[in-house]
Amino acid sequence: MTIWAFRGRRALLRVGRTPWRELVTELGRRGRGEKEAGAFLLGPRGGDGRTVTRVVYLDDLDPDCLTGGISFDGLAYSKLWDICDAEQLVVIGDIHTHPGIGVHQSSIDAENPMLASDGHVALIVPDLAMRPIAAHEVGVHRYDGNGWTTWTGAAAARRLFIRRRL
Ligand SMILES: [Zn+2]
Repeated sequence: MTIWAFRGRRALLRVGRTPWRELVTELGRRGRGEKEAGAFLLGPRGGDGRTVTRVVYLDDLDPDCLTGGISFDGLAYSKLWDICDAEQLVVIGDIHTHPGIGVHQSSIDAENPMLASDGHVALIVPDLAMRPIAAHEVGVHRYDGNGWTTWTGAAAARRLFIRRRL
């Protein structure tokens, strides 16, 4: 077994380095350093369920959702499912920003999974994504149908796999 395979096997989500940079930059741009912003993370149908190949920003689905926090309209999910059907994708995670360094879930975050399916992964990025963010700075939260498991720091970096090549 290679080190690569071993590390990759633990990953809950895998993202290319350049797409990750673009994602963080775009979240920061959309929140303008004032508001939280977020996105759904999608991968191919029939894929490994971990590799992110497409990002759909919450405010592209619901233009009014960035209220400081995030108030995503349930009706906007139909647009998300349309994209999934048209591009043969599935939602494998989501990401949103928090102000400051705290990347634990708020009670609202924990009580309202963006997708309440077993294995769904929610990422929280600090500092409203106004600077480059490394994997160990991200809060990684996995939903198991009842509640959440949370990893931060080095444990988060083992589960959010950001690599030049996937
Ligand atoms: Zn939050």
